[in-house]
Amino acid sequence: MKKLAIIGGGLSGLYAAYSLQNEYEITIFEARNRLGGRIHTIEGFDMGPSWIWSHQDRILSLIRSLKIELFAQYTSGYALYDTPQGVQRFTAPPSPPSARMKGGLMTLIDALASALHPNTLRLSEPIHRVDAQDDTIVIETSKGSYKADLILCTLPPRIALETITYNPPLSAALIQQLSTVPTWMGHAAKCVIEYKTPFWREMGLSGFCFSHAGPLGEIHDACTHERAALFGFVHSSASMETIEIDIRSQMSRLFGEKGEEIVSVHLVDWRKETFSSTSADAKGLNAHPSYGLTATCYNDRLMFIGTETAYTEGGYLEGAIRSVEQILNT
Ligand SMILES: Cc1cc2nc3c(=O)[nH]c(=O)nc-3n(C[C@H](O)[C@H](O)[C@H](O)COP(=O)(O)OP(=O)(O)OC[C@H]3O[C@@H](n4cnc5c(N)ncnc54)[C@H](O)[C@@H]3O)c2cc1C
Repeated sequence: MKKLAIIGGGLSGLYAAYSLQNEYEITIFEARNRLGGRIHTIEGFDMGPSWIWSHQDRILSLIRSLKIELFAQYTSGYALYDTPQGVQRFTAPPSPPSARMKGGLMTLIDALASALHPNTLRLSEPIHRVDAQDDTIVIETSKGSYKADLILCTLPPRIALETITYNPPLSAALIQQLSTVPTWMGHAAKCVIEYKTPFWREMGLSGFCFSHAGPLGEIHDACTHERAALFGFVHSSASMETIEIDIRSQMSRLFGEKGEEIVSVHLVDWRKETFSSTSADAKGLNAHPSYGLTATCYNDRLMFIGTETAYTEGGYLEGAIRSVEQILNT
């Protein structure tokens, strides 16, 4: 069997291994000491992605086949508009219905990982260097070197350039192609605020809040089956030094005394995650980029996949699945 090395144990890498494991001897090299990449669930709360939309047929089909349960995002009730001048209720315009995963999206990562052949996964092994030789490619990790016939690199393109040295060097055209692709959500900082009860629902509120006052610019209901919570994206202008104090005062402004009864605050600043964001990504984006690219080198023995390469639904979980199917269909 030919040896396939997959760089990155996020959704793209795991789904690629799951799809190809009967055709290749596969090893996944993951830099972090956990799988999932941008999927990161802490105590049942999704600190990375949380939503799947009803048109996203490829990921929905995978979720169905793995018998994982979804539930609808809670949206009933009024939204809040938060400005320095005061807080107002309003009726949010309808948005496409979204679903969340019971247990958080790590349930999907765990299900894929447990379906892989034994010895496929190598955690805490960042790839530093790729050496293309006549008939094999040698990859170097922090723990040694490994020979493969074929490599799938699932990293966001800018991370693939920043964390790995390529020999022979990638062409100037390929470097240019990869360096201009923004990492989706590389600018985000996400915060989950846990409460004893979803009191906002009893106040006739959906939990959705749009804020000009910050520090959370957009807030949503984040209740799980077991626990009550709101989540928010930190506004780019918010001070990270005082973020927790500022979030507490925003919750008090929005919900009064009930908002002050916080059980815990979880925060992940993705801008500081070197395996998910570069300094160019941390600046943020004005709109969803137009993703999609085909990039290979070393006579197609190194192929770049991952959500940012998907021609449709790029950036999303659905794009991660489609990026794998793009190469399976070629
Ligand atoms: C805050 C946030 C909210 C989001 N919300 C949504 C949402 O609601 N819905 C949605 O569809 N999408 C959302 N997304 C996007 C979604 O998370 C991604 O589309 C998806 O997780 C990408 O998967 P991937 O495998 O392509 O990339 P990644 O998850 O980035 O996987 C790449 C993997 O490579 C590893 N790695 C990096 N460098 C190296 C190296 N040198 N050697 C070895 N391994 C390395 C990383 O650790 C990572 O595990 C969100 C993302 C964030 C951060």
